[in-house]
Amino acid sequence: MIEMTNKVMESNRVLSMEESATIKMAQLARNLKDEGHDVISLSLGEPDFDTPDHIKEAAIQALKDGYTKYTPVPGLMELRESISAKFKRDNNLNYGADQIVVSNGAKQSIANVSLAMLNEGDEVIILAPFWVSYSTIVKLGGGVPVILKSDISEDYKVSPEAIEAAITKKTRFILFSSPCNPTGSVYSHEELEAIANVVAKHDNLYIIADEIYEYINFTGKNTSIGSFPQVSDRTITINGFSKGFAMTGWRIGYMGAPKWIVKACSKIQGQFTSGASAFGQKAAAHALSSDLAPTYKMRDIYLERRDIVIKLLKEIPGVKVNEPQGAFYVFPDISSYFGKALGDTVIRNADDFCEYLLNTVYVALVTGRAFGADNCIRISYAASEAQLIEAVKRMKEALGRLK
Ligand code: PMP
Ligand code: GLU
Repeated sequence: MIEMTNKVMESNRVLSMEESATIKMAQLARNLKDEGHDVISLSLGEPDFDTPDHIKEAAIQALKDGYTKYTPVPGLMELRESISAKFKRDNNLNYGADQIVVSNGAKQSIANVSLAMLNEGDEVIILAPFWVSYSTIVKLGGGVPVILKSDISEDYKVSPEAIEAAITKKTRFILFSSPCNPTGSVYSHEELEAIANVVAKHDNLYIIADEIYEYINFTGKNTSIGSFPQVSDRTITINGFSKGFAMTGWRIGYMGAPKWIVKACSKIQGQFTSGASAFGQKAAAHALSSDLAPTYKMRDIYLERRDIVIKLLKEIPGVKVNEPQGAFYVFPDISSYFGKALGDTVIRNADDFCEYLLNTVYVALVTGRAFGADNCIRISYAASEAQLIEAVKRMKEALGRLK
């Protein structure tokens, strides 16, 4: 009875919304662990490293210094100045401190921009495979996601021609991440320039470039699309501390954007959450202006793990892998298993594939469907080498039983 009452009271917004598949899978894995099962969770995209000590020390010092109050909505000036300097130093981007909004994670930055820029029915081109929350956030802003697919044969990258063909009068912005969650693909300087050239031809078309995996890039090269002059005043660059500094629980993200978008996002954030935590912001400013050696050390360890996981996955018949160039995900095409079965358990799709592995060998992965790629699964290798080796061994054994 209570159930029914609650259902009736839920807004249409909630009813039409999908739950985050990454968070759902991580919770399922936690539940099984709590029941006493030996679960290996490679589902959530979260560094297994702890935040470097010098950043924690900075937060403790900030607390002692009384950074316990509200900050200006777009963030402490000290942090915005560090972000502005970082954009210049690492990305050749020219966002002044008054062009930055600090938020409770990059997730909120993306939500702010969607709410700030979209009207009902506006289209947003999302390059797929895409991070789970993009399409939901766009829909919450009243936008219509236009998903452009790509597969493993294209290294999961969408061509500038496909983008050009999808642009209509209603297209408001293009949204993508590079390095990409879930594929690990990195769009090269040339590929980004070609996209910038397409966007530049269309007045009022914007780019939202999610660069949260910037520091986990194995190519040795890093281009920000906003650094191309033809789109520099039409690019919103999203970034944050969760991945490169192993600070997921701190909830600090940010964006650089044209001033009118900064103003609009500050207005929204001022009504929703106000500024991010004061001591967290102080520690974040410290993180940006100190030596990045701990960040690069983590990157190097991710690379070693990537190589191990890829080598082992290649030994499983029917699992197709490419070589991701960044982030900490592998995104194999596992469609050759569709139609196979073990007794009554039939693998019809990637959801079934993940469910089968979770229930039989307690390995938690995420279905590619949530990322706009029905033939794939996502494996996060932000886990210890021993866990990764054991997880792939279990996968191989369980998949070998399917006929
Ligand atoms: N963008 C991408 C591509 C991500 O993978 C994540 C991870 N959750 C986010 C944004 C959001 O990061 P956060 O809110 O932790 O800063
Ligand atoms: N970005 C991470 C992931 O893709 C964290 C979970 C989330 O925020 O969706 O798994």
